[in-house]
Amino acid sequence: MPIVNGDAMSGAAHITNGKLEDYTRALEILDAEYPERDGVDVRTLLDSKTRGGLTYNDFLVLPGYIGFAASEVNLDTPVTKRISLKTPFLSSPMDTVTEHSMAIHMALLGGLGVIHHNCSVEDQAEMVRKVKRFENGFILDPIVISPSTTVGEAKQLKETWGFGGFPVTENGTLRSKLIGIVTARDIQFHADLSDPVSVVMSTDLVTGQAGISLLEANDILRKSKKGKLPIVDGNGNLVSLVSRSDLMKNLNYPLASKLPHSKQLIAAAAIGTRPDDKIRLQKLVDAGLDIVVLDSSQGNSMYQVEMIKYVKETHPALDVIGGNVVTKAQAATLIAAGVDGLRIGMGSGSACITQEVMAVGRPQAASVFNVSSFAARFGVPCIADGGIQNVGHIVKGLALGASTVMMGGLLAGTSESPGQYFVNREGKLVKAYRGMGSIDAMEDKKAGGSKDAKAAKASNAGTARYFSEGDRLLVAQGVSGSVADRGSITKFVPYLAAGVQHSLQDIGVQSVKELREKVLDGEVRFELRTVSAQAEGNVHGMETFDKKLYS
Ligand code: GDP
Ligand code: 5GP
Repeated sequence: MPIVNGDAMSGAAHITNGKLEDYTRALEILDAEYPERDGVDVRTLLDSKTRGGLTYNDFLVLPGYIGFAASEVNLDTPVTKRISLKTPFLSSPMDTVTEHSMAIHMALLGGLGVIHHNCSVEDQAEMVRKVKRFENGFILDPIVISPSTTVGEAKQLKETWGFGGFPVTENGTLRSKLIGIVTARDIQFHADLSDPVSVVMSTDLVTGQAGISLLEANDILRKSKKGKLPIVDGNGNLVSLVSRSDLMKNLNYPLASKLPHSKQLIAAAAIGTRPDDKIRLQKLVDAGLDIVVLDSSQGNSMYQVEMIKYVKETHPALDVIGGNVVTKAQAATLIAAGVDGLRIGMGSGSACITQEVMAVGRPQAASVFNVSSFAARFGVPCIADGGIQNVGHIVKGLALGASTVMMGGLLAGTSESPGQYFVNREGKLVKAYRGMGSIDAMEDKKAGGSKDAKAAKASNAGTARYFSEGDRLLVAQGVSGSVADRGSITKFVPYLAAGVQHSLQDIGVQSVKELREKVLDGEVRFELRTVSAQAEGNVHGMETFDKKLYS
């Protein structure tokens, strides 16, 4: 074998002018002579004793081998011990981020929106109800009216519920004889609002028999070309309802987050850990809540331990996510108390000044790795919460062991977040975004109402999360401001998902699960990034540029 010179770094011999087989031995030589791959394993990277805490921008993942298409990358991932999602994205429980519209759309796209609690119990329960009612299989508790209900009342019901198709039964309840159906079109132009609906309702009904499968019901709907299919028992009593629009939603949103055997979207909401929150929780559970998030900036407290135990005892079917935590010790307390999931992050949020004001917190990459690797031993999935500014940060959060990421600022500028767009001083289209520990958010509590349309509800979430009862002076842990318009999440979230798929393809792993496994066994490698490497990794040397992220 012709050999000249040596490898400057390793001292190993070079092969030059060799035959083809010499070159094909590259892999063999790599294995034999370079057992230590390029870069470092995750433990070495995150060794905080020698290096201090790192965060997402401080490192990169090294590329692997691409042996599959990006579209084949599977993003399924658990969010709690029992519940999995098809995309690893959550929206924050903040009053400028997640109300029912965000929660519904996040769930339709395979993620999850956690409804904030900076509002009255009734408003929050209503939002949970809207998520649960948005999509159904058999609607087992349809809104039913009686023949004497007026057209005006039916219009009002349409306003309240957001749908206008109501079955009419003899005595206006379920399990009573079905006599007609009123649809939005029947009442739309009817002038006399005091007329009973019996004047406008359709009575030539296509119905399904109780006991038929959803597939059969959908088949009847398809053939009948009607919008609704009332299901009746042998005596003609209404037992449930099937809606054509659910058929369409199912087709249009194949990734939608649903529990097995359920056609409804998964609903998640946040609460605090005060005694009043137990009442709030009951109302949310009555509205159909599936996952409760205990919202606390420092979750390692006797209050949270007590609340976790209370939830597990009183609502065993409900999954509870605890947090926030950033150390193994904090996590251990909550895992021991029985959490089904953990939320990681303290001071890494984009609207957050906790680290500056409190001197407490942890860089997010260090937090995610330390907590997730510990929690994994108990099968407790973790959410990397805060500090996500781009697709790369999502992938790094997942690579460090989180099962999902939670985003506030990145989603606050979408059309599904609460509030209106406005044009700022520079002429840019923006939407308000504020930390829940900002003076603004907390003053809403003091005012008992709000100057801000988004938080125009009696609120206590900001103060409950960031202050103790006796505090006379509000000390901010967040700021309030605005974020740029990002269009609809129906485009933005699929962009994030496609971005993560491409990134995992580059790394050479075909699923989020495989990413976590290969990071832990040292196959996926990392490299630190100096400040100048970070500058190199961003656009540089250009006079002007347009940073359009997707089309
Ligand atoms: P409609 O034609 O105005 O009734 O509205 P759509 O058919 O567009 O939407 C109805 C949506 O609301 C479907 O996704 C239903 O599953 C959901 N929904 C939830 N509860 C009810 C209910 O009691 N009655 C009706 N009609 N729809 C309901
Ligand atoms: P972002 O995605 O904007 O970087 O971070 C969102 C996260 O910031 C939220 O999910 C929450 O954990 C955290 N957060 C929200 N409001 C505040 C606040 O006022 N102060 C602090 N310290 N964190 C906040």
